Amino acid sequence: MFFDRNEIDRRIRQSIVKSERAIGKGEVASYIPELLNVDSDTFALAITSTTGDTYYYGEADKEFSIQSISKILDLLAALHDNTIEEVYTKVGSEPTSYEFNSLVPITDRAANPFINAGAITTSSMIRGLDVDDKFERVLDYYKLISGSDKARLMKDIYESEMETSVRNKAIAYYLKSKGIFDENPEEVLDLYIRSCSIGSNVKDLSHFGAVLANKGYGLNETKDLIPESIVSIIVSQMASCGMYENSGRYLMDVGMPSKSGVSGAILAIVPGLCGIAVYSPRLDKTGNSVRGKELLKILSYELDLNIFVR
Ligand code: GLN
Repeated sequence: MFFDRNEIDRRIRQSIVKSERAIGKGEVASYIPELLNVDSDTFALAITSTTGDTYYYGEADKEFSIQSISKILDLLAALHDNTIEEVYTKVGSEPTSYEFNSLVPITDRAANPFINAGAITTSSMIRGLDVDDKFERVLDYYKLISGSDKARLMKDIYESEMETSVRNKAIAYYLKSKGIFDENPEEVLDLYIRSCSIGSNVKDLSHFGAVLANKGYGLNETKDLIPESIVSIIVSQMASCGMYENSGRYLMDVGMPSKSGVSGAILAIVPGLCGIAVYSPRLDKTGNSVRGKELLKILSYELDLNIFVR
């Protein structure tokens, strides 16, 4: 963003207006019943630069569950508690053309950490006394990196998913049967679903993204909150696997490493520049926010954010 603040703001507003053509397209996720309990046309955008400048639009304080964006936290915690080799012998690093909750991309192990099977695997590698303790560590990580202590477990979302998680249960038991982990599959799944149910907003999420964009350093601090070696793994996995089976096409269209969640949130990273969080609950067939994708594509062009065109 090599424009002044007013010009950035003008371009963002213009992009938001253009993205209105996506309003009403797509469907809100219904397989977790509580996710339906939202205004489907809610919209929010936040951009936080690595220097700490912020740009907020729409319902920027609205709380939503981060869903699959938590797969970043699961990977982060697993890489914190284990060596890179230990993690990547249990989970692959390749994209898959199957949907996020498919059993197909699990051969000897899950294809990558950003589909359900992969995040259930990384969840099994998080250390702690019990599920409560492990979840507290994951949540504390998010609070530390997002620079806010607002994040919390959204109990209604968590309970709703726990009641309807037969597919994820099958995945957890299958991974256990393959010897990927020794832990109790019910507990691993519980931790995974709690992380998906972390409630946050686009402001805090974009701050979290800005730290990833800032090589893991706190904004305007010299303290590294995430080691650079881990940042590089997370951001590159976001680029190749962050948007499920749409990852390749999305990267081609938008050019920013991103991670989405079925609540309708997308977190995009421009290394060295900023973190962007969009929230708009209507999803396409691949489980990605329709308006979120549309807006990120427009912003990428308007603010010159495509990392492959510099
Ligand atoms: N909690 C959701 C699930 O496991 C997360 C999936 C997603 O956001 N794609 O199905």
